[in-house]
Amino acid sequence: MQEKLKAILDQAVAQINESQEIERLNEIRVSVLGKKGELTSVLKSMKEVAPEDRPKVGQMVNEARTQLEELLEEKRVAFAKKLREEQIKKETIDVTLPAKKPAMGHRHPNTIALEEIETIFTGMGYEVVEGPEVEYDYYNFEALNIPANHPAKDEQDTFYINSNIVLRTQTSSVQVHEMEKGKLPIRMIAPGRVFRSDEVDATHSPSFHQVEGLVIDKNITFADLKGTLAEFAKQLFGEDTKVKFRPHHFPFTEPSAEMDVSCFKCGGKGCRFCKGSGWIEILGCGMVHPHVLEMSGIDPNEYVGFAFGVGLERVALLKYEIDDMRLLYENDERFLRQF
Ligand SMILES: [Zn+2]
Repeated sequence: MQEKLKAILDQAVAQINESQEIERLNEIRVSVLGKKGELTSVLKSMKEVAPEDRPKVGQMVNEARTQLEELLEEKRVAFAKKLREEQIKKETIDVTLPAKKPAMGHRHPNTIALEEIETIFTGMGYEVVEGPEVEYDYYNFEALNIPANHPAKDEQDTFYINSNIVLRTQTSSVQVHEMEKGKLPIRMIAPGRVFRSDEVDATHSPSFHQVEGLVIDKNITFADLKGTLAEFAKQLFGEDTKVKFRPHHFPFTEPSAEMDVSCFKCGGKGCRFCKGSGWIEILGCGMVHPHVLEMSGIDPNEYVGFAFGVGLERVALLKYEIDDMRLLYENDERFLRQF
């Protein structure tokens, strides 16, 4: 019996020492120490052992079991450690691998156009000022010399929050806020989102963007206005761009004009892009109405100024030859990536 026990023990120790992985250790454990294992079967055959030898054999079996269990555990820990070291090795970060770039969007044509406009005007000493999109009726209309019965105030054109508050229909309201501060002279542009209750089509949207400009100082004349906007047009559309002014009417300027630029596609000869005229309408402008100055607390006998407003979408559509305004609002990356 002792020899049998020793043989089992020796074989098991040899197997454990030869084993290469945790799974093999489990197999050995089952085959030796399991319910139907070799060591267990020795205990079961104890009745064949002489009664006086039984305690000794029992003790030997237990010692063999303990020895095997300790050896198995020792091996298991060693395997686990080795496995972990291999894993860590595999997971080592290779800093020379190219990085995965996050998906980047693309600057919107409106943003590109706005940055260009801002660069031109800040280069001429203008400040960029922003104001609220939800505005009092007073700042959006009244302070800009737009009387209560003016068609622009119709609910068909304007989104009313209540009778006193509107979604601004123009960024000109920002001018009033600046004038009220009383810090003169003023040289500013006010870019921002405006709202009109228009149906969506290729040239209209209930929400679009304007860039409003305002200069107030002493001895400002219409020549300053023309010179400034001619320079703006040249920087925006090219050195050869010519401008012309057509008389117009705006409530907040007097005199008022609309400015056309010579077609940058055909140079003024006339083409499909300018509908044969050689000119493209680009913005509205004029000398600030004395009444507007007065309402904001500026003495019109001392100060004069000019103002202009350009549609940001109009500039983006022209510059990038986009024929449908709706494309600007779809945010389709395939579209945006072209600019
Ligand atoms: Zn043309």
